[in-house]
Amino acid sequence: MGQPTENLARAMTRLGEIPDVLGVEASPIYRTEPQLVREQSWFANQVARVICGPQVTPFAFLEELLNLEIDLGRDRTRGEGAPIRYGPRVIDLDLLLFDDVVMQTERLTLPHPGILARAFVLLPLVDLAPDLVLPDGIAIREVLEQLDYRREGDQIWQD
Ligand code: AMP
Repeated sequence: MGQPTENLARAMTRLGEIPDVLGVEASPIYRTEPQLVREQSWFANQVARVICGPQVTPFAFLEELLNLEIDLGRDRTRGEGAPIRYGPRVIDLDLLLFDDVVMQTERLTLPHPGILARAFVLLPLVDLAPDLVLPDGIAIREVLEQLDYRREGDQIWQD
């Protein structure tokens, strides 16, 4: 919602201000046709590599992301008046990977379960880390090659 590229730029700046974050490297921004709820504006997607000090844990970092989403204007109302799932939102910050950590808890799943299926995640991830191999040994470039999607410049279509 609003100005997606400005929202992303604000999020990147704020990521760099999280305590014990030492550096942030951002991928190019891709524009993605909405899936599922199709009557809405195109999404803007970006991946960041965040270098953290050793004291930062996956749960602490997730907490920072969730607080940052609220600060940037994310509406997390539940029940009546709640935003539509998969609908427009100001920002959505997901933790894709945290080193080679593998975990499945109620609060946090790592790697993020959406990585393998989404071109709008894999394309910017490959831009940042072309040789990245997931904790289970799969190279992200190979996953991307298997995926059915269409790309023209910075635009992505995927059913
Ligand atoms: P969403 O509304 O789709 O952004 O989902 C956010 C919720 O998913 C949070 O309350 C998290 O506890 C949970 N979650 C589980 N794994 C992850 C992850 N890898 N990254 C972000 N959120 C996660």
